[in-house]
Amino acid sequence: MKIEMHVHTSEGSPCAEVDAEHIVKAYSEAGYDGLVITNHFDNDLLKEFGRTDDERIERYLLGYRRAKAVEEKYEIKVMLGVEIRLEPNAEDFLIYGIDEMFLFENPNLCFMSQAEIYELCHLYGAVFYQAHPFREPFVPRNPEFLDGVEYNQRPNSGNNNGLLEEWLKDYPYLKLVSGSDCHSLKQVGFGGIEIQQAIRDIKELAAIMKREQVRLIKWERLWN
Ligand SMILES: [Zn+2]
Ligand SMILES: [Zn+2]
Repeated sequence: MKIEMHVHTSEGSPCAEVDAEHIVKAYSEAGYDGLVITNHFDNDLLKEFGRTDDERIERYLLGYRRAKAVEEKYEIKVMLGVEIRLEPNAEDFLIYGIDEMFLFENPNLCFMSQAEIYELCHLYGAVFYQAHPFREPFVPRNPEFLDGVEYNQRPNSGNNNGLLEEWLKDYPYLKLVSGSDCHSLKQVGFGGIEIQQAIRDIKELAAIMKREQVRLIKWERLWN
């Protein structure tokens, strides 16, 4: 299966240009078998999403739910992920392997420490990666509390993946994931992973990612 691991929809991420249905359609046409909707889980954004925690999470999930509703129509598996920013830092992290209930039960994830959220993800069978660790102005956070890091392949985004590969030599136990960080139709299909197994859901995918280094789809080398 060919799976995109980092996609935004305009319902959940104001910085994204494309709504859920059009992004699902675009990934289906690009030949992917699955995609993970990773809208921004930032406190600045969430507080605009509603007055109560439940309202905020409902609103957060809108893009994912709209994408999920059309997965059969476009014959592509839609899964829930999260791109989270932990207060007070600017870095983003990706969570794979959680479900809607996890978010309703933990609406204040943005205020946890990296260590706390890493432990919590593991309790749920989820995995925790740092997104684009060398994209300026970001820096790699504590590798002790990461399952891995992202090889982000959004074009013209200063991801500095060469620096990432150098840095990784000191942390060989960290896994890699690849994603396009897609915010527009021009950014569809620059990354993702390929797995042999057919997975039913994100929990199964997280278990595979924890166990083995999945194959990365690397486009960057083709046009650099
Ligand atoms: Zn964004
Ligand atoms: Zn992103």
